[in-house]
Amino acid sequence: MRLPTPADPYPFAGTQLPCLIGGEFIRAAKSFPNTSPVNGAELCAVSEADAALVDRAVQAARTALRGPWGRLSLPERCALLRKVADRIEQRFAQFVSAEIADTGKTLREASSLDIPRGAANFRAYADLALARSSECFEMGTPDGRGALNYSVHKPVGVVAVIAPWNLPFLLLTWKVAPALACGNTVVAKPSEETPSSAALLAEVMQEAGVPPGVFNLVHGFGPGSAGEALVSHPDVNAIAFTGESATGSAIMKSAADSVKALSFELGGKNAALVFADADLEAALAGTMRSVFSNCGQVCLCSERVYVERPIFERFVEALVERARRLKIGGPFEQADMGPLISRAHREKVLSYYRLARAEHGEILCGGGVPSFGDERDRGAFIEPTIVRGLAEDARCVREEIFGPVCHVAPFDSEEQAVHMANDTRYGLAAAIWTSNLQRAHRVARQMETGIAWVNDWFLRDLRTPFGGVKLSGIGREGGAHSLAFFSEPQNICVKL
Ligand code: NDP
Repeated sequence: MRLPTPADPYPFAGTQLPCLIGGEFIRAAKSFPNTSPVNGAELCAVSEADAALVDRAVQAARTALRGPWGRLSLPERCALLRKVADRIEQRFAQFVSAEIADTGKTLREASSLDIPRGAANFRAYADLALARSSECFEMGTPDGRGALNYSVHKPVGVVAVIAPWNLPFLLLTWKVAPALACGNTVVAKPSEETPSSAALLAEVMQEAGVPPGVFNLVHGFGPGSAGEALVSHPDVNAIAFTGESATGSAIMKSAADSVKALSFELGGKNAALVFADADLEAALAGTMRSVFSNCGQVCLCSERVYVERPIFERFVEALVERARRLKIGGPFEQADMGPLISRAHREKVLSYYRLARAEHGEILCGGGVPSFGDERDRGAFIEPTIVRGLAEDARCVREEIFGPVCHVAPFDSEEQAVHMANDTRYGLAAAIWTSNLQRAHRVARQMETGIAWVNDWFLRDLRTPFGGVKLSGIGREGGAHSLAFFSEPQNICVKL
């Protein structure tokens, strides 16, 4: 697949991104600017859906449930999803352009992860939905004739999909694909920071022949805007949300009145545990990835790195040395790390850098903003940062920062490492680095997280359960878990 070059224009330059409602592209009366985190330039205007437009989208989705979509067989629905995946791949360069323009992430990340995974999500859920079987139980009855119970999987109805800005296309399609595979209709709202790949997906849905109203897209903000109008709409049956834990809590309140089904993938404050018996090179390379990928803006990133004392100084020195060598730059610059998503988010991350100093942490590298002497100084770039010496109850060790930063601390025993890793209100992921097989299994099980990696990080099989415990989420998505959330099983009992 062709990669975009700097000569490829951003696909929506100079336009106003429309919403897609009932198969019609609609420009809202109000709009807001979409700006580049690389240099602050305005990329395009984005329609801001108000409550009335959100209501139209939900009604269109409701109508489509009763239309041709509702009458399609499962194989026909899955064939349409495969067409969507094909069209994404045909327009691959445009999708990559859109994603790097909105996020500033590196060309390597967008072209090897975000966009390919977006297409893969549609194929994977088409396969999984087709392979799903249903239960059947024979039962006895007093008259001896017996009965047969079987289950059918029905759609839940209209599903609201709310996605964040860090992996915009990957996380949107991660929910849209299984929702559609299960026969639901969708109203999706991407983050206002990253509307472009979702806008391309709306076009692709039309091109692939997905019936009007099956996939609707509304743009806008969260509180008091399109997001809140959508999650509190009485005609929405289920909400699949990825974002911050505090937003999840607000959405739960909005959804309470109409008792909607909820699937939440929320924040994390993930630990990496590096034991002295680990393959050091693998642990170093893996920890670099788990701290600095996507400028630290992955819910799975490690922000707390615990290292067994005998190798602590050596490991930290090597980590700092590598962090200092990371090349920061725009998407086309062969950089290791792009900018944060926005100036506002950079201010939040910088406030934690300042707090780390105030909390008596020692900044081993980074801690500020790089200076380029060109237009990138108007962007949202920030230095990769490693801190040591904070107390375990320091706010920087307890709160999710969501930037390219970690705190390193030594541990003396396996028990202490497990305790420190679990001593958090979050519970999304852990990375364990050891060559001791027994320890690997023992420690992995003790992690109070939805996911524990041993000797790797962010290695994903789409069939596996994905989600978090504690403040990190409710429910699991992935494989059969997504199909279960997006379906209503109905028991049919037939007296024989
Ligand atoms: P936010 O929670 O700020 O926003 C997520 C989405 O929710 C956005 O589309 C936002 O709209 C919308 N939103 C905000 N408030 C409301 C509301 N009251 N009602 C309805 N919708 C609302 O998250 P970020 O975009 O800042 O993403 C970063 C967060 O996502 C981090 O905490 C990260 O850990 C988490 N995350 C979790 C993952 C997981 O799988 N567990 C994966 C990836 C990220 P808008 O932005 O337009 O205001």
